[in-house]
Amino acid sequence: MNLTHRYLPLRTITPVLNRLAASDLFTLKDLGLSVENRPIKALRFGRGDFKVLCWSQMHGNESTTTKALLNYFLALESDPKATQLFKSLTILAIPMLNPDGSERFTRENAHEVDLNRDAQALTQPESKILADVFTAFKPNLCLNLHGQRSIYGLTGTENPAVLSFLAPAADADRTITPARLKAMALINRITNKLHEDLGKQIGRYDDSFNLDCVGDTFTSSGVPTILFEAGQYLLDYQRNNTAALIQRAYKVLFDSLLVQDELPPADKILSAYLELPENTVNYCDIIVKGGLPESSGQHKDLQFQYQEVVENDRLRFIPQLLPKEETPRLYAHRYIDGSELSTLLKRLNRDSWPSFIDDYVQKKYSL
Ligand SMILES: [Zn+2]
Repeated sequence: MNLTHRYLPLRTITPVLNRLAASDLFTLKDLGLSVENRPIKALRFGRGDFKVLCWSQMHGNESTTTKALLNYFLALESDPKATQLFKSLTILAIPMLNPDGSERFTRENAHEVDLNRDAQALTQPESKILADVFTAFKPNLCLNLHGQRSIYGLTGTENPAVLSFLAPAADADRTITPARLKAMALINRITNKLHEDLGKQIGRYDDSFNLDCVGDTFTSSGVPTILFEAGQYLLDYQRNNTAALIQRAYKVLFDSLLVQDELPPADKILSAYLELPENTVNYCDIIVKGGLPESSGQHKDLQFQYQEVVENDRLRFIPQLLPKEETPRLYAHRYIDGSELSTLLKRLNRDSWPSFIDDYVQKKYSL
């Protein structure tokens, strides 16, 4: 069972789902079919009163939280807390809500619809399945599981957004409703623990309100919902380190639900939550320092963002120059000395620089 690659289609996770279904802890159920008739499955754990609904890969190219979820479930088989969790919680998990997008490694489904903008219109079969499960299961808590691009850093720091969380808004005024406050309190529990491992590399996602997003819809209907965003950590482009951190976040969260603690006062919850720095777009994948000759009259550094391409069931990461219309990034996950490139460029006609730069960087730094 290979969950180590970032490209994660349904056929890769199916053996893991079957393995879990064969244990006493889980049952596996078909919820319905995607646009291209791939099955959308749910794993069910426990028979407790507190019900948690989670779904991952509603964006097909965001597989890290799926890997983490399956690894968390596999680890439950030997977790001393499993019996207690089984009695106290019922977890219904849809590991792959968008199997067609997961096969293609696209955000959207096979109709090119972003399922996280379809929460009101419910035009897609995948959206209807999630809405129906929400109505029938009546969860006490929802986990909306996503991955974020390597472009995010944390406001006011040099750190990348390795993980980000959000207690989505319930209305346009971003009122702190009881559901939202509960989500914030649970996020605080997670980040308090994970800061021990990760330092201050956890962010808070933008909370502008959009009822077409699933998290906003569920929060506005009174159910605490937490958005998880798995991000980039150093050069871990397969995101296995991040998956391990997300797995730890699940464990911290679910274990904490066993303890019947009173929530802290609202102002304490809010201030701790707001201490998390906000996500901002200030990172790229590679900065080639001094890659352009000084005489060029341009900025000397070159910035690259990886394009993710599926080849032979594996992802390749191909560096592309950041388009001019994009805001320059302050930081990169990798810095490269550009003196060799700069020397080579000086020998060339300026018209041929762009294609030479592409070629040079792609040959050297594709992953
Ligand atoms: Zn997403």
